[in-house]
Amino acid sequence: MKFSKLFIPTTKETPSDATLPSHQFLIRAGFINQQGSGLYNYMPMGKIVLDKIRKIVKEELDAADCSEVQLGFVTPIELWDKSGRAEKMGKELLRIKDRKDNDFVLSPTNEEAIVELVKNRITSFKDLPVNLYQINTKFRDEARPRFGLMRGREFLMKDGYSFHESVEDMQREFAHMEETYKKIFTRLGLDFRVVEADSGAIGGTGSKEFHVLADSGEDTIIVCDSCEYGANIETIFEDEDVVNSLNDLTYEELQEKAVGKKCSCGGELSYTKGIEAGHIFQLGSTYSEALDAKFLDSNGKSQPFQMGTYGIGVSRIMAAVIEQSHDERGCIWTKETAPFMIDIIVSSAKKEDELNAGMKIYEELKDNGIEVMIDDRKKERFGFKMGDFELIGFPYAIVIGKKLQDGLVELIDRKTGEKTDVALDDILDFVKKL
Ligand SMILES: [Zn+2]
Repeated sequence: MKFSKLFIPTTKETPSDATLPSHQFLIRAGFINQQGSGLYNYMPMGKIVLDKIRKIVKEELDAADCSEVQLGFVTPIELWDKSGRAEKMGKELLRIKDRKDNDFVLSPTNEEAIVELVKNRITSFKDLPVNLYQINTKFRDEARPRFGLMRGREFLMKDGYSFHESVEDMQREFAHMEETYKKIFTRLGLDFRVVEADSGAIGGTGSKEFHVLADSGEDTIIVCDSCEYGANIETIFEDEDVVNSLNDLTYEELQEKAVGKKCSCGGELSYTKGIEAGHIFQLGSTYSEALDAKFLDSNGKSQPFQMGTYGIGVSRIMAAVIEQSHDERGCIWTKETAPFMIDIIVSSAKKEDELNAGMKIYEELKDNGIEVMIDDRKKERFGFKMGDFELIGFPYAIVIGKKLQDGLVELIDRKTGEKTDVALDDILDFVKKL
């Protein structure tokens, strides 16, 4: 892709309400723009990143035998009345009326709709289990939308639902989804923890959250230094006063309160901050009973489906990557989420030899399947291009400049800042090893 042809409106202006690095940098680097309170557009680079995250999620779910569907974004209010959530979710549900005065909801999640979809279509235990998912727009009318993509009102989410003949089979799938989610978060290049969680408003028993570790995380989680154990602090302290006062506490004070609390493996427990980016639930038969969705078991007896439900905040992950990986100059994307792996910076694109050398490397890398951008802008100076490279956060840059006379280009690692001179003829082999 040529920088000169792609719409990348970078800016030095930081939005006044943007306190988090991801909010500031995603807007300043031209990935997203705000359209209204909690409403964001994805510009070309933002769309590329969003699609990359979505692709990884889809590939792993398909490999785990889940089937993709796409449900309507607008659902009739009757479904929400049947499940009792029209009242329970209150103003978080955005209600709309059509021209005939019928009431609808912009879906914040889709348990009701998916149960209706399966109902009377799966009638026998022989057709179970089934795991259906979608990656689709959701809307939740948050009272205080803030932090950019982290807590928007409209967002892209993967929501999945599994149907089973028994609790045991649902629990087997729950464990299978935990493993699948671990693969997804690992592939995204994120430092994450799976933690025991309270199941909150969704209902049911047994749930786990997937937290991306970052100082700016809204949740406090407790982790063990020698095993995989992790838990949301809300599940650790039964004393409500302690939980309610967490915002005012330092880690050290928390540590004191945890005295006596060691991990069952004997390891030391400590506290860290996490961004909830995935959540899996053992849902049971709450929704299938409410919506009267049943199948015939092996004894010919009518039973409600046992269900599991599984979410991933796809657009939130885009922000979480940056919360975990940035510096004072801008974003630092992981290799799997970067819009392009390499930014070829032609120092002075007006000089024909520099532009030609850059284009030659660009074509060569592209032909070898490497995702590459060339900054071929003729009116921008080198310093400005470097600033954009650092703000946008491509993992590497190849600078075509003065050293070209000696047959050399400079490779820059965005994360470490390390610079290496590489001979023109060796650049492909060098890049392949990165
Ligand atoms: Zn442990």
